[in-house]
Amino acid sequence: MRATVMHAAGDVRIEKVPDPTIIESTNALVRVTRACICGSDLWPYRSMARSDRGQPMGHEAIGVIEAVGADVRNVKRGDVVVMPFASSDGTCIFCHEGLPTACVHLGFFGNQGNDGAQAEAIRIPYADGTLYPLSVGQDDALMPSLLTLADVMGTGHHAAVVAKVGPGKDVAIVGDGAVGLRGVIAAKRLGAARNVLLGRHSDRIALAREFGATDIVSERGPEAIERVRQLTGGQGVHAVLECVGLTQAMETAIAITRAGGAIGGVGAPQEAAMPGSQAGFYHNVTVGGGPAPVRAYIPDLLPDILEGRIQPGRVFDRIVDLDGVPGGYRDMNDRKALKVMVRP
Ligand SMILES: [Zn+2]
Repeated sequence: MRATVMHAAGDVRIEKVPDPTIIESTNALVRVTRACICGSDLWPYRSMARSDRGQPMGHEAIGVIEAVGADVRNVKRGDVVVMPFASSDGTCIFCHEGLPTACVHLGFFGNQGNDGAQAEAIRIPYADGTLYPLSVGQDDALMPSLLTLADVMGTGHHAAVVAKVGPGKDVAIVGDGAVGLRGVIAAKRLGAARNVLLGRHSDRIALAREFGATDIVSERGPEAIERVRQLTGGQGVHAVLECVGLTQAMETAIAITRAGGAIGGVGAPQEAAMPGSQAGFYHNVTVGGGPAPVRAYIPDLLPDILEGRIQPGRVFDRIVDLDGVPGGYRDMNDRKALKVMVRP
């Protein structure tokens, strides 16, 4: 089959690779019908050291099950399924506690020897715990929004949950990328009174307003902090969704959180030390977050998509086939595309 393999920063290729097969009795094979290029795929795209074997890429997909191992019970051949970015067994204590991204059998697709989803097919470890069957056809009109359940919608929602967004709260979202824009949707959905997006790209701002952003702050650094304080009577917001992961983003997040507020961080930190920790401490700011347990959020978010209350799929602005994937990486990296959908 054909699959996307990254060999070094800027070097993404479509290659012939062996077809995936059932290795463990808990595996399933999924023919990929939709996948994405993720903002987090751009980190290795900018920094990966050259590797002869290369890294299979892609961790968000919807597909159709082609085969299941002997011990798979919850999904069957022919099912249309969402594949969250992490695999999990669905049975351990952390899966039962709603944190499948801490599963004792956790794996990340397109990482650590696992298959990537920017491919014609993919082997799924722990299919029963990982996959979520959908009751729609493989070309349903809602596919773009359903695909966001594999990562970005669940990740934006996680930031909002960790930041304790609730009715009447003032919320700010740091970052106007694909996750930040879903953060706007998530904050509105959970009842935010004020929904402030910190971002500077005009097309993304327009979409954010349609998603429910009440205010846009396009300044950066100290000016951005000052603007958010002005909007909130000098106090800052109750909840901040930090959707970037860079030092300045976390410093800004801490500075715009009112005393006693909370930050949900879902941008993978690019530094070992947490920026702004002293300022956060003296304001009793709670800082949390991590890899979103998107598999656990699907039952909560899915009805809102199926019934049209949220449309997170509107963030896709490019569709490519496998041959178009290297160009998709380039255009996302050059900010010519916000979020690329792949139709292998
Ligand atoms: Zn588990």
